[in-house]
Amino acid sequence: MQFDVVIIGAGPSGLFSAFQAGMLGMKSAIIDSLEAVGGQCSALYPEKPIYDIPAYPEIISQNLVDKLYQQAAPFSPQYFLSQQVVELESCSDFFKLKTSAQNEIQAKVVVIAAGAGSFGPNRPPLENIETYEGKSVFYLVTNRENFAGKNIVIAGGGDSALDWAISLSEIADVSIVHRRNKFRAAPATVQKIYELEALGKIRMVTNYQLDGLIGKDGILEEVIVADLDGNKKPLKADILLPFFGLAQNLGPILDFGLNINNHHIKVNYPYFETNIKGIYAVGDVATYEGKLKLILTSFAESASALHHAYSRVFDGKALHFEYSTTKGIKR
Ligand SMILES: Cc1cc2nc3c(=O)[nH]c(=O)nc-3n(C[C@H](O)[C@H](O)[C@H](O)COP(=O)(O)OP(=O)(O)OC[C@H]3O[C@@H](n4cnc5c(N)ncnc54)[C@H](O)[C@@H]3O)c2cc1C
Repeated sequence: MQFDVVIIGAGPSGLFSAFQAGMLGMKSAIIDSLEAVGGQCSALYPEKPIYDIPAYPEIISQNLVDKLYQQAAPFSPQYFLSQQVVELESCSDFFKLKTSAQNEIQAKVVVIAAGAGSFGPNRPPLENIETYEGKSVFYLVTNRENFAGKNIVIAGGGDSALDWAISLSEIADVSIVHRRNKFRAAPATVQKIYELEALGKIRMVTNYQLDGLIGKDGILEEVIVADLDGNKKPLKADILLPFFGLAQNLGPILDFGLNINNHHIKVNYPYFETNIKGIYAVGDVATYEGKLKLILTSFAESASALHHAYSRVFDGKALHFEYSTTKGIKR
């Protein structure tokens, strides 16, 4: 668990930082709270075309992420996914990081590429919901066959809620709970939902919201829903899938002793170093005068930060600058 560089965040800035670290001969680790790399590009708009990436007149957001991942691959960065960095401690000439999965990682340099913070699901405010999470309550579906034959309550009115309702109605008993009777999903999806309701394949519980969970030892039996006047009713449920979108929160990073300005980390230009020597911040999370929050800006920030970090990683050795064309890459 000892690295030259540890990168917090596997969005576009984190992935490009791993590439830059590799080009400079540094061994890197990347940590992300999401289970996949890509940050906002993969979590929020994977299918949208991006038009302002140099040399790509148009590129689908997820394709950009895939290419950044491939670009870093020759240097074998070690990925620690599905875990949040919860503690950072400065030691004499290295940093110690702890993650929510109890991993302890040490590195000489830290690059914070945390965007607007860790992604996590928007949890409905239901008493004891955490005791059901991972057993009966899930915020994403990794394998729909796990839910075959179950009574499933899906909560939410957006694309994820309705897409999964359509898919799961083929193999399970599905109810959709939504606090309005209008949905925010694509019109074709909404139409399909009404067709499935007419065929008796989906139960619509609209103008209701989640109110409580009934069950034992994390095994759900009923979901209680309430209308706007507070009238409650139970829905038979083995599984609850709340789809209320993803929230981003800087969370523990606010306690690392860094200069924070309005949920961003202040860095010096042009090295992107924070007030703590050896900790850099790049991408959306970094702020300085004239900052442009764009992916292309973050690439240059990563390159500058890692070139600056070189002498710290290699115990004072001066960097002999070389182009990538000169250096090449061993595959
Ligand atoms: C709809 C939409 C369209 C956009 N279109 C464009 C565009 O056309 N062109 C453009 O240049 N930009 C665009 N952007 C902005 C672009 O996506 C961001 O600038 C970019 O994603 C920032 O990259 P990042 O790596 O700095 O942060 P992010 O992509 O936010 O990634 C940060 C990662 O860090 C992780 N993280 C944070 N804290 C922790 C922690 N403590 N522990 C573990 N992991 C942590 C998060 O889970 C996240 O995965 C768009 C954004 C949106 C929402």
